[in-house]
Amino acid sequence: MDNWNRIDWLASHQHLPPEEIEQLLTDPSEDTIQYLFNRAAAVRKQYYGTDVYVRGLIEISSYCRNNCYYCGIRKGNTKAQRYRLSKEEILLACRNGYKSGFRTFVLQGGEDPYFTDLQLIPLIQAIKKEYPDCALTLSLGERSRDSYLACFQAGADRYLLRHETANPIHYRQLHPTPMSWEHRIQCLYQLKEIGYQVGCGFMVGTPGQTKKDLAQEVAFAEEFRPHMIGIGPFLPHSQTPFAQKSAGTLQQTLMLLALLRLTLPKTLLPATTALNTLTPGGREAGILAGANVIMPNLSPPEVRGKYQLYDNKLSVGLEAIEGFAILKEQIKQIGYQTVVARGDSLQ
Ligand code: SAM
Repeated sequence: MDNWNRIDWLASHQHLPPEEIEQLLTDPSEDTIQYLFNRAAAVRKQYYGTDVYVRGLIEISSYCRNNCYYCGIRKGNTKAQRYRLSKEEILLACRNGYKSGFRTFVLQGGEDPYFTDLQLIPLIQAIKKEYPDCALTLSLGERSRDSYLACFQAGADRYLLRHETANPIHYRQLHPTPMSWEHRIQCLYQLKEIGYQVGCGFMVGTPGQTKKDLAQEVAFAEEFRPHMIGIGPFLPHSQTPFAQKSAGTLQQTLMLLALLRLTLPKTLLPATTALNTLTPGGREAGILAGANVIMPNLSPPEVRGKYQLYDNKLSVGLEAIEGFAILKEQIKQIGYQTVVARGDSLQ
């Protein structure tokens, strides 16, 4: 099979064997890449038109009990600036977002032991009471099944938990013990079984990741069938063990977005902040390669710079609520439009 046949096959079968995907990722020509993006954009339009869904990202805590080798807010980074938002600060962020037309709020944070269910449940209830027309997404890492269930019963609709890699051996190169790939995957299945709309995801270009691993990512998504998939390039952080490692590339990240769109046409795919931090215009390139979600930052401006997962993480201007009007305009320029809607997954 040549590359164009591989893309055609994937578009018509929503499946391509991992060996063929690996081939496709190996030195593709510019024409091949453009063809892949065009096919992915066409499939995305078939299901989601030119709508771009907006999520307001509220980074509620930079404390974390974990020591992921790649992450700037890892426990072992003694230079990381730590903060956690109060219930009032989080509700104020939602209020600001609602006024700007946001209908999904994403509470994300490190695995901060402060956020027990006793803290989270009243917070979830308060947000859902004030904004019953909005979806609430949690992205707070690994918790017990009981905790996931309690948060769901309190009103949380969605949960984002990137699995980080579908390869358990590679997982160990990115995370020390006691973190475990098996536990992370178990969490994903529990979330789905409880009834959340579930997002998994991974970084592109992490140290040690191979093209075979990337092909396995597509196979994992095909098997797990998530409602959303968050992917972005790995970007190094200077205070982590991976400080000297190279970043993932724009091309490879965009190719993965397009491959995922063709494999799971109905899934939600964000064009992430990491993509835009890697290259100006990365967000628009992501949308043109099949992404259909953006996640501007709603955190209070004074803490935004403290949630440094990687060096130079963008958190002002077009990345944030203040720049939303300009961002909307930029998205219009490429033929798409942001919408005031919860933006539930068709998956
Ligand atoms: N603690 C929660 C969890 O583990 O899912 C959510 C917060 S965690 C910081 C969110 C995501 O940031 C991770 O899943 C990871 O993929 C991404 N991330 C962390 N460090 C990164 C880096 N250096 N480059 C790119 N993405 C990174």
